[in-house]
Amino acid sequence: MKIVIVGGGAGGLELATNLGRQLGRKKRAEILLIDRNHAHVWKPLLHEVASGSLDADIDSVNYRVHAHKNGFNFKVGSLKGLDRDQKCLYLEPLLDEEGEEVLPARTEHYDYLVLAIGSVSNDFSVAGVAENCIFLDQPDQAQLFHRRLVNQFIRLNSEIARESSKRTLHIAIIGGGATGVELSAELFKAREWFSTYGLRHVESGHLKVSLIEAGPRLLPALSERISSAAKEELLKLGVQVRLSTTVASVDKQTITTSEGEHIKADQIVWAAGVKAPDILRDIEGLEKNRMNQLLVNDHLQLTKDPSIFALGDCAGCPLKDNNGEPRWVPPRAQSAHQMATTVGKNLVNLLDNKPLEVFKYQDYGSLVSLSHYTAFGKLMGGLAIGSMNVEGRLARMAYVSLYRMHQLAIHGWYRTVLLSLSSKINHFIRPRLKLH
Ligand SMILES: Cc1cc2nc3c(=O)[nH]c(=O)nc-3n(C[C@H](O)[C@H](O)[C@H](O)COP(=O)(O)OP(=O)(O)OC[C@H]3O[C@@H](n4cnc5c(N)ncnc54)[C@H](O)[C@@H]3O)c2cc1C
Repeated sequence: MKIVIVGGGAGGLELATNLGRQLGRKKRAEILLIDRNHAHVWKPLLHEVASGSLDADIDSVNYRVHAHKNGFNFKVGSLKGLDRDQKCLYLEPLLDEEGEEVLPARTEHYDYLVLAIGSVSNDFSVAGVAENCIFLDQPDQAQLFHRRLVNQFIRLNSEIARESSKRTLHIAIIGGGATGVELSAELFKAREWFSTYGLRHVESGHLKVSLIEAGPRLLPALSERISSAAKEELLKLGVQVRLSTTVASVDKQTITTSEGEHIKADQIVWAAGVKAPDILRDIEGLEKNRMNQLLVNDHLQLTKDPSIFALGDCAGCPLKDNNGEPRWVPPRAQSAHQMATTVGKNLVNLLDNKPLEVFKYQDYGSLVSLSHYTAFGKLMGGLAIGSMNVEGRLARMAYVSLYRMHQLAIHGWYRTVLLSLSSKINHFIRPRLKLH
């Protein structure tokens, strides 16, 4: 049996590792992971890559090496389409940075297919967003933001030194969800480290961060308590929080609001919601929801094709909230992790001719980290009795432990302990900020 997993992110890489160890090593099934990138960076860390507090080159997992160690195969490639009747998928040609072809378009056969290709930012068709904003969907976008940030700080430092200029660097972030809130705080931390590492003319007043949110409060998916605590902390840092402000259009360095106000900024980040990738729109005969997610049944198989599973941000998995109202499993790392576990069990059950497990989403709460300043959140279910609000050091520890749990799923105990030790050592021997 050949199982192909497309997308080696928070959920897909955990699944490939698990199946590689359980089935691939014992030659019970061939497990193939396909991703458009060569290395995995856990997506919830991308705002840290953007600010420079995390070096993606160091914290990434190379797919080929990981596949070799864990009993599965890896191919680099970008999904282009599917032929469900023939049970095969199509990959785009692989091009290098100069546009030269490295590999031609390819076809891959599967017996079971798992789609785990995550999500992309939803620009809600606002004019100019796609062309002029930076998105934090992929490591290379976060790295591009970071390279621009370094250059902008260097230029600013030199201008202030030469002319005692009153110029500020203005970063505008559209979207007051977790990504926008966390990135705002990260930028102030980055400014502190840039000043420490030689750009001493750049003082706190030289960085301006505007966080623009269409709704009446930040972090709409979290409780009012967390939302107002986060807002208070951001205001203390100096973030200009603009609520109930709808963006009508964006051009190169200007945001225009629906009230007609023009906001100038040096970099504009769009972090205002997600949708499943457009490639899924082109696959015919499958049911999708408004976020373009593929609808799945209780076992996480596509409603229209039981030989295909979907998990994580690209899966539309219906759920009832505490009041019995219908909603969707939220696009979060913990959902991708839980779905990967169920899909893994169900693929083994299919091989063993056993009944399939029903997926039950368990909300373990939410955490928001304001860089090293503070963190807030609510722990639920398995991590707390009932629900528990957490703040400060405890919340920060819980936040870091989420990444450790992902590392545990892909590396096991021994390597995860070594990795956390090495990150403690790096804390002392490496710069606190990536400076190039
Ligand atoms: C800045 C930021 C902070 C976040 N913080 C949190 C947090 O604190 N807690 C939390 O629970 N969630 C957080 N999230 C959300 C979380 O990252 C996602 O919900 C989670 O990563 C979804 O996992 P996934 O496996 O579905 O997709 P992903 O982890 O996005 O992985 C998708 C994979 O598919 C690959 N891929 C995409 N398209 C193709 C294609 N066409 N062909 C081949 N491969 C493809 C990608 O390269 C990627 O490796 C955050 C997100 C962001 C952007």
